[in-house]
Amino acid sequence: MRIDVVSIFPEYLAPLELSLIGKARQDGLLELNVHDLRTFTTDKHRTVDDTPYGGGAGMVMKAEPWAQALESVAAAREGSRPVLIVPSPAGEKFNQALAYELAEEEQLVFACGRYEGIDERVIDWAQEHFTVRPVSLGDYVLNGGEVAVLAMVEAIGRLLPGVVGNPESLVEESHSDGLLEYPVYTKPSAWREHDVPPILLSGNHGKIAQWRRHEQFRRTAERRPDLMEGFDAGVLSRADRQALADLGYDVVDGRLKARPGGDIEN
Ligand code: SAM
Repeated sequence: MRIDVVSIFPEYLAPLELSLIGKARQDGLLELNVHDLRTFTTDKHRTVDDTPYGGGAGMVMKAEPWAQALESVAAAREGSRPVLIVPSPAGEKFNQALAYELAEEEQLVFACGRYEGIDERVIDWAQEHFTVRPVSLGDYVLNGGEVAVLAMVEAIGRLLPGVVGNPESLVEESHSDGLLEYPVYTKPSAWREHDVPPILLSGNHGKIAQWRRHEQFRRTAERRPDLMEGFDAGVLSRADRQALADLGYDVVDGRLKARPGGDIEN
């Protein structure tokens, strides 16, 4: 995969040289280029922003430097139609499903906004060259797109083949099957009056798998009931259904429904 990031603060993306993503770049699994938007300006002051039409607070990023920068990265792979991700609190929300979808692409381009954002005409114009996706990290406002890009590139990059040493660890993670991950423990088994759940020391793999599945349901129900409501009950085993019934969930029309007054078992 090739990733291009355009920003007025290219140094912000330096952490992408570290850890698994840094190694993936070194190993040639991921080509990642960071471009300074200011190199695509033509005036002495390398201006990238101006006052908003219609008045109001703050500045807006000018269209032409963005067009120049995006034309330049699109030309790097002629004939392809890269996905242009525009980080924005007004975009669709980033999640694991979108990370998987984007990990299938050949080229991703990220346009890091600053100030009040990018002149909207860039988003319209860019559709001639790119599949454009405004994407939000969550319902809060950051100062710029760079932190959002760090998070998204890490989430997408770790799904590329060969990046994470043991691909099994991707399968069992939170959100990979619509649920949160079960709790994990390591040695020592007894620590400051807190013991590891005995089942994990039993060596009974069937029972451990069952316990972990139950913990996934319990945790998800406690922390993210919204995920429970959206969970596809078609994939549930008989043991799952029993665990869910114990937690106060019924299956109604192929979906999980919390029983009124049903308590989450601890
Ligand atoms: N005025 C914009 C609004 O209310 O939608 C917010 C602009 S914000 C200060 C500057 C830039 O930070 C945005 O253009 C975007 O690139 C980035 N940004 C801020 N919050 C974000 C979020 N939740 N997800 C992704 N990017 C975000």
